[in-house]
Amino acid sequence: MTTFSIKTLGCKVNQFESETLEQAFVNQGYRPACGQEEADICVINTCTVTQKASMQSRQAIRQAIRANPEARILVTGCYAQTEPEAIQKIAGVHDIVGHSDKSRIPEILSLTEEPKSRRAERPIVANFRSSAPPNFHLQGRTRPYLKIQDGCNAFCAYCIVPFARGKSRSLPIESVLESISRLKADGIHEIVLTGIHLGHYGLDLEPGTCLNDLLIAVESAALMERIRISSIEPAEISNELIDRIAGSKIFCHHFHIPLQSGDNEVLKRMNRPYTREMFHHIVGRIHDRIPDAAIGADVLVGFPGENDAAFDQTVFLIEALPITYLHVFPFSPRKGTPAYSFANQIPHSVVKARCSTLRALSKAKKKCFYRSHIGKELEILVEGVRDNTTGHLKGMTSNYIPVMVEGKDHLRNTLIMVRIIRQQDEAAMFGVISNLHQISV
Ligand code: SF4
Repeated sequence: MTTFSIKTLGCKVNQFESETLEQAFVNQGYRPACGQEEADICVINTCTVTQKASMQSRQAIRQAIRANPEARILVTGCYAQTEPEAIQKIAGVHDIVGHSDKSRIPEILSLTEEPKSRRAERPIVANFRSSAPPNFHLQGRTRPYLKIQDGCNAFCAYCIVPFARGKSRSLPIESVLESISRLKADGIHEIVLTGIHLGHYGLDLEPGTCLNDLLIAVESAALMERIRISSIEPAEISNELIDRIAGSKIFCHHFHIPLQSGDNEVLKRMNRPYTREMFHHIVGRIHDRIPDAAIGADVLVGFPGENDAAFDQTVFLIEALPITYLHVFPFSPRKGTPAYSFANQIPHSVVKARCSTLRALSKAKKKCFYRSHIGKELEILVEGVRDNTTGHLKGMTSNYIPVMVEGKDHLRNTLIMVRIIRQQDEAAMFGVISNLHQISV
C-alpha cells in the first residue's frame, strides 16, 4: 500500500487543512507512514507569515527530501502559494500545489501515478469555494479545529495572508452544522471554530449572513457541549456577540483578539480599522459582561516607525486592561506588502528587547489570572493523553486554563468538574475531581 506523510507548519487553519488532507489520502487508499518509516509521498504544508516561517518551511522541505530519498515530494501551503520560485530552486521537490488544489492532492496523484515532470508548476492564487462539509482525521484530538472561513479582504499593511489565501469565503451554515454533527458522532465534546478572518464570516454567502447568525444557528441546534471561537478582530466584536457568548451555555468564555499595537499612529499605518480607545472599550465590555473570560491578544512588535513612546502606549494599554495572555510576534517584513518598504525599520536588538518586555508582561498576567481561580470549581474537558512529566490527566476549562488532575483513563475525553487547588510555577494549575459531569447533549 502506498504510504504518505504530511508535515505542517503555521496556523490552526493550516493544521485543519492537513487533517482534511490526511483523511483524503486515507479515503483514496493510502496509508500514513509510521514512525521512522520512509513514505512514498511526502507533503509539506508550509507557512510564510514571517521570514522565519518561510525559512522553517524550506528546512522542513529539505528534511523531508533527506529522510525520504525515494519519495515524491509535494509542497503546498502559504509559502508555496506566494514564493513558488524559491521552492523550485530546492532540488528534489516534484510538485508545488496551490491552496486551491491542496485538498485534491491524493486525487491528483491517483490521476498521475508518476510525476510527469520533475519541474514544479506555479500554483494558482486561491479563490476557490467549497460548500461541502469537510472530512478530517482527528488524530486523537479532543478539541479539533473546524475551519468555517478562509481568506481575507483586509490587507493590513504588514500581512501576506490575503496574497496567500485570496478573498474571504465561508462554509455555509448548513455545512457547519453538518460538520459539528459529524464531530459529535465521532465522540467530540468541544470544537474550535477557526478561520483567517472569522468576523467576515458569511458576508460572501448568498444570501449574506454573519458570524452572529451562525452562532444563533449553532446554539439552537444544540449539537455540541462546547464551542470555542478562535481569533476575532476587535472591530468585529459587537455588543451582540459579547451578549450572545455571555448568555450561552455552549460558547466558551474565551476571546482572542489581535491588538497588534496600542498606539493610534502605528495602528493607522498598519491599516488596522480601530483605535486604542475602541480596543479599550471592547475589552472592558467583555470583562464587564463575562468577568471570568480569558482574553488573549496578539501584539506585533517593531512595526516600522514604532518609537519608544509608541511601544510604551502598547505596554500601558495592556497593563491597564484585564488581558490574560499575549501572543507576541516580532515584525517581519514580507515582500509584496506595503510595510516591506516603509521607512524607519526598527533594529533587531530593539525589537528583541521589546518582545521580552511583553512576554514578561504576558507571563505575569497569565499567572495572576490563573491564580485568581484557586478554590473555584470549574468544568474541564479532559484530553486524550496524560501529561508527560507528572502522568496527570490534563484538561482545559472553558476560559482557557489548563488544569491537571489525578484520575483514571476512562475520564479521557470527558467533561468533569474539578476544584482548583494550587498553582505550580507560573502556569501549571492542579485540581481535584469534584464531580463527574453528566453529558446531556
Ligand atoms: S485581518 Fe489583517 S492581519 Fe488578519 S489576515 Fe487579514 S490582512 Fe492579515
